Amino acid sequence: MVNWLFVFYRRQSYLFFRLCNAKPTVTITLNVIMIIFKRITNIQKWLQTAKSGKATVGFVPTMGALHEGHLSLLQQSKKQADISIVSIFINPAQFDNKADLEKYPSTVAKDIKLLEENGCDILFLPSESEIYPDEKSKRKHYDLGNLETVLEGKFRPGHFQGVCLVVERLLTIITPDVLFLGRKDFQQCLVIKRLINLMKYETDVIVCPITREESGLAMSSRNQRLNEDEREIAAELFKALKEIKENRDHSQFSILKKNAIKKLELKGFKIDYLELAKEKDLQTVSEFIPGQKLVILIAAFLQNVRLIDNIKLSEY
Ligand code: AMP
Repeated sequence: MVNWLFVFYRRQSYLFFRLCNAKPTVTITLNVIMIIFKRITNIQKWLQTAKSGKATVGFVPTMGALHEGHLSLLQQSKKQADISIVSIFINPAQFDNKADLEKYPSTVAKDIKLLEENGCDILFLPSESEIYPDEKSKRKHYDLGNLETVLEGKFRPGHFQGVCLVVERLLTIITPDVLFLGRKDFQQCLVIKRLINLMKYETDVIVCPITREESGLAMSSRNQRLNEDEREIAAELFKALKEIKENRDHSQFSILKKNAIKKLELKGFKIDYLELAKEKDLQTVSEFIPGQKLVILIAAFLQNVRLIDNIKLSEY
């Protein structure tokens, strides 16, 4: 049997473990090991000890198939929190399309290696029955207002209810001090902030910038399903967003949008939406409004891979 004891001292964390029958206590700095928990009861027990030592917890929820975008969130967490926890769980509840769920890439062994190399302290890797033990645990409804009916909400009905279901569950288990999210999923960030308000959680949310390939393509687990030529074409999405933004003083949004869609369709994209919206609530607007914080958002299929991206008018 092994006893675990965690002591936190000036942001440097040490892990002591003792084999009960063999006395010596071994000390390992958490920077060189990562603990993987699959069970809620075990991670909660561990967290109880960690939190009693006043350690702050940063949390990065993911669906795995990790890339530099995910790792940038982990790096941010490492800067801001004493302990960084990453979860990997492909959440069936947020897939409105069964084929998309079946094709979602899973590379757990590679992910574990990447997380270890990047100094993750804890990986939470639960099974579906751990997250959703019964049917009742899947029957919840969240009031997301217009976020549920615009853009992603409109094209992926039920998607954000599924996101809220899993995020509420994970936040209840981990109770992090800070949650790190990627701005690539712009609408999801607003949804999760709203969920945190609805649930009256005290978790702070940090929204991190989009990590891109050199070509400008926003990194995404789904990019793994594209071949090299398709990846090159996929980069056209971000080019289209930049072009609209750069021409905003010379043309109307409606005209720029029409031209961009035509160009992208010629390259083989099937566009779900290309919209201009207010950053704060994603209410869509038809034209550029001086002085308003606006964002351009796009979702499109290339072959059968759905890609999303966005650009704020105030950035780059
Ligand atoms: P996912 O595994 O796709 O559910 O993403 C997990 C988290 O990583 C979410 O908060 C995403 O917004 C974030 N993320 C995904 N791709 C990127 C990226 N290219 N840059 C920054 N964050 C990202």
